Amino acid sequence: MAGARVWVRDSEEVWVGAEVVQDYKGNEVKVLLEGDRGEKTIVVKSDTELPPLRNPDILVGRDDLTSLSNLHEPAVLYNLKYRFLQEGNIYTYCGIVLVAINPYKELDIYGNEFIQFYSGCNRNRIDPHVYAIAEEAYSSMCKFEHNQSIIVTGESGAGKTVSAKYAMRYFATVGAGPGESDTQMEKKVLASNPIMEAIGNAKTIRNDNSSRFGKYIEIGFSKKNLIIGANMRTYLLEKSRVVFQAAQERNYHIFYQLCAAASEYKEFMLSNPDDFYYTSQGESPFVGGVDDADEFDETRKALQLIGVTESQQLMVFRILAAILHFGNVDFLEADNQESCKVSPDDISLSVVASLLGIDGEQMQRWLCNRKIVTVNETMIKPLTESQSIQARDALAKHIYAQTFDWIVGKINVALHTEATPHNFIGVLDIYGFEMFETNSFEQFCINYANEKLQQQFTQHVFKLEQDQYVEEGIVWSFIDFYDNQPCIALIEEKLGILDLLDEECKMPNGNDANWCQKLYAKHLEKSKHFAKPRMSRSAFVIHHFADDVQYETGGFLEKNRDMVIEDHLNILRASQFEFVAALFREDETPARTGKQSKNYNKPRTGRGSVRSMTGPPLQGAKKQHTQTVGSQFRSSLTRLMQTLNATIPHYIRCIKPNDEKAPFVFEPKRAVEQLRACGVLETIRISSAGYPSRWSYPEFFVRYRALLKPADIDKKNIRCSCENVLQNYIS
Ligand code: ADP
Ligand code: MG
Repeated sequence: MAGARVWVRDSEEVWVGAEVVQDYKGNEVKVLLEGDRGEKTIVVKSDTELPPLRNPDILVGRDDLTSLSNLHEPAVLYNLKYRFLQEGNIYTYCGIVLVAINPYKELDIYGNEFIQFYSGCNRNRIDPHVYAIAEEAYSSMCKFEHNQSIIVTGESGAGKTVSAKYAMRYFATVGAGPGESDTQMEKKVLASNPIMEAIGNAKTIRNDNSSRFGKYIEIGFSKKNLIIGANMRTYLLEKSRVVFQAAQERNYHIFYQLCAAASEYKEFMLSNPDDFYYTSQGESPFVGGVDDADEFDETRKALQLIGVTESQQLMVFRILAAILHFGNVDFLEADNQESCKVSPDDISLSVVASLLGIDGEQMQRWLCNRKIVTVNETMIKPLTESQSIQARDALAKHIYAQTFDWIVGKINVALHTEATPHNFIGVLDIYGFEMFETNSFEQFCINYANEKLQQQFTQHVFKLEQDQYVEEGIVWSFIDFYDNQPCIALIEEKLGILDLLDEECKMPNGNDANWCQKLYAKHLEKSKHFAKPRMSRSAFVIHHFADDVQYETGGFLEKNRDMVIEDHLNILRASQFEFVAALFREDETPARTGKQSKNYNKPRTGRGSVRSMTGPPLQGAKKQHTQTVGSQFRSSLTRLMQTLNATIPHYIRCIKPNDEKAPFVFEPKRAVEQLRACGVLETIRISSAGYPSRWSYPEFFVRYRALLKPADIDKKNIRCSCENVLQNYIS
C-alpha cells in the first residue's frame, strides 16, 4: 500500500490528497499530505476502511463522474471542483444527473448558436449542458412519443430557476413552428416567467430573485413536435412574506415595481416602499442591478402578451395597492386592553375601502370584533389589538394569494390549447431540502416534498441500473439501497405527523403543545425516523435522507389551518367591483373558467381555506370541507408524483458553491452538503454497489492496451484483447 495515492479527511477542505508513506502498523497508516501539510497518521479500523484511492490523473476532469475508476465522495468533489475552477465548466454529469454549479457570473454559453449546436446532438458526444439535457428530453419525446420531465432541485440560490428558464427557452426554440407562427404560443410560454417572477419572487438574504413558490410547467407538443400549449401548477406560495420580511429582505417584487410607477396610477395613492409597513420591514427596498420601473414595464408587457387586458391589469394593480394600504391600518387599544379600534386619524382603511370598492365601516367592525355563533345565539366579541393585527394580516395574505391564483389561472387560459397535445415535457422548479436555525411548518412541507422527490429519484436510478443488468445478462444480487419510504410514511400515512396535525386542528382546544405530545406518544421509539430533542418539549426531529432536522411545533396548527374570517370575505364579495367580488366567491376564480383539455392536469392553485379565525371551530363561520394546507399539499404531491412517474425523468441538481454570491468560488464544505442533500452521493452509492464503471470495449482497450504484449493484441477483436488484459492481471 505504500506509495498509494489516497484521500484523507480534512476539516476545511473536506478531503485532501495524500500519499501513503508507511503501511499499517496495528491499525494506523501514515500518509504525507499534499501542499506542505506534512505527515499525518490516520487510524483505520480494518482493511475495508482504508482511505479512498485517488484516480489517475488522466481521469481528472472527466465530464461524467461515473467514468471514474474510483467513485466516491472525494473523487466526485475533486472532479467537480477541478472542472469548475480549472476549466470554468459549470456542468458535469453524474450518470443520468446533470450537476450544475452556479458560477455567479454571466457566461456566454446560452445564446441561440448554442441551442442550434445542441439541437439534434447526442448527449454523449458533447459537453454537459442544460441544453444537452433539454435536447435529450426533446429527442426522447420525438423518438419514443413518451412524455418527459425535467426535475430541477437545489437549495435557494443554487440556480434552479435560471436552469428551468434555459430549458424552457430551449423547448421554445426547437419547438417553434416554421417562420413567425400566428399563435405565438412559445412566446406566451416564455412570457409566463417574468410574470411569475414579479408576483412570486422576492429578494432574500440567499438570493436577490428567490422564487417563493414551487412550479411545475407542462409544455404540450403536437404530433409534429411543435409547441401548442402549456399548463402550470404552483406549490406552496410563501404567503407570510406579504405581511412580514426579515432584515435585508423584500416583499414580492411586484409591490416595488408598482411603487416605482406610482405617478402613473395617482388614484392608488402610492409612494415610496418605505411608506408602507408591508414593504419596509426588511429596510432594503432596492435590489442591486435591478430597476423596478423597468421590470414593471416587462411585467406589463408580459401580462399583455398572455391576454390580461389593460382594465384587468388595472384591477390587479388596484388590489395590490390596496394590500399595501391595508398593512398601514393601525389599531388603537382600549384602556382595558381588551378591545381596539382603528385609529380615527388613520386614512389607510378608507383608501383600502375605496380601492377595493368595499364598505369601510363594515371592514373596520370585523377587523376589531368577531362573531361567535353558537347553537342558541350569536355574540359579538371584541378583539384585542394583536388579534386585530393578526386578522388584518391574515386577510392581506389571503387577498394576495387569491390574486396570485387568478394570475396563474389567467396564464393557464392563455397557454391552453383546444387541440390535445400529443406529448408534453414537464419542467419542475421546486425548492430543495431546507434546514435553518429554526425550522417550522414551511421547512417541514418543503422537506417532505424533497423526501418524495428523492424516493422518485432513487427508484428511477435503481430501476435503470437493474434494467441494464438484466439486459446485459449480468448476474448481480441487488443490495439494499437507502429506502426512505419509512420516513415518508411517518409524515403522510394514517396517524402520521400530518394526520395528527389535522386531527389537532379539528379539536376544540387543539394547540401546538398538545399536538407535540401526541407525536411523542405515537412515534417516539416506534419510528426510527422520529426523535425528540433532549432539551426541548416543543420540538421534534425527523431523520431525513439528507440530514436530521429539528422542527419547532409553535405555529404549526395556525399555518396548517390558514384561516380567513368569513365575515371579511363577505365584505369583499359585496364589492362594487365585480372583479374583486368574483375573486373571493367560492369555487369561482374568473380566469379559471377556461376549459382544460383532458391531457392536462387541472391547475391546482391552492386557494386558502376558509375558516374561522381562532379557537374552536365556530358553527356558521366555518366552511366544512375545506382542506388544511398540509393535506392539500399531500394531495398535490401525490398527483405530482403520479405525473412524474408517468414520464421519462431527467434530473438537474443545482449546487450553490459559496454563500457570498462570489463568481467562481468553490467552498468544498458547502458543496458536499448539497451533493448529499440532492442525492448525488446516494446515486454513486447505488452505482458503486453494483458495477460502478461502464466502459465500452474500445474505451477499455485504449486505456489498458499498454498492459498487453503485442501478441495479446488483436485489433480485429477488441473484445478478446480486453479479455486478455483481465486474464493476465486478475487472478
Ligand atoms: P434558485 O432558483 O435555485 O433559488 P436562481 O436560479 O434564482 O436560484 O439563481 C440565483 C442567481 O444565481 C441568479 O439570479 C443568477 O444571478 C445566478 N445564476 C444562477 N445560475 C446561473 C448561470 N447558469 N449563469 C450565471 N448566473 C447564474
Ligand atoms: Mg428559484
